[in-house]
Amino acid sequence: MSLWDTHCHLADARFDADRAMVLERAHDAGVEAIVVVAAEPDAWAPSAAIVDHGTPPPPVALRAAYGLHPHAVPGAAQAHWADLRRWLSTPGAAAVGEIGLDYHRGDVDRPRQREWFARQLDLAVEFHLPVILHERDAADDLLDVLRGTGLPPRGGVWHCFSGGPDVAAAALRLGLHLGFGGLVTFRAGTDAVRRAAAACPVERLLVETDAPYLAPEPHRGRRNEPARVADVVTCLCGIRGQTPEEIAVSTTVNAGLLFGGAGV
Ligand SMILES: [Zn+2]
Repeated sequence: MSLWDTHCHLADARFDADRAMVLERAHDAGVEAIVVVAAEPDAWAPSAAIVDHGTPPPPVALRAAYGLHPHAVPGAAQAHWADLRRWLSTPGAAAVGEIGLDYHRGDVDRPRQREWFARQLDLAVEFHLPVILHERDAADDLLDVLRGTGLPPRGGVWHCFSGGPDVAAAALRLGLHLGFGGLVTFRAGTDAVRRAAAACPVERLLVETDAPYLAPEPHRGRRNEPARVADVVTCLCGIRGQTPEEIAVSTTVNAGLLFGGAGV
């Protein structure tokens, strides 16, 4: 079985002590590729160093996503803009992300978040890359911005999808993939997202961990890691009535098409 973890913060300090072992365990669990998400300026260079590995190569193919998460927007300056463009020009860059809107903290500057989100959508067009979208308590505005700009030509994924079937349908109409992770495995409060996962067309389905965050059941509360993407697949089997092999094959094909193949 071959899997893609399409969303992992592998440069996070919580992996500093055992990053090589984390990649070995991912390989043993069937993970063939990981999208390493660097969503704040401090993460860009460390993530690039992980993805642009030396020899020997890691046991799992690594691709990078560079972007400014909505939480990073308040501290973002014009200088970061030039840096971001530079990282997106590097050979390991496979996506712009994660970018989007997060209104969970009530005091955020929504117009500024929307502005930086739209500007980064433009970057995806310019660099001909797909986008990785983050959204929390802001689904209507996220869809509104996307309807205004259009989804960049290389497409994208709504990562850690947490909405119900109606939001999923709107996202799918825009051409987005839906990324499901640990959240869908949680037992409480997940009926709507499970219905969205059940209804997602197989050619738009992706799996992810968002490690070190959001460890799936039965590991909830612990540090997450890419090998746990297999637990997400197990959960989706029950929700969708598919075998692990079916979900692995389709999500791996989808991820390869979206992010440009694992053979790097
Ligand atoms: Zn993330």
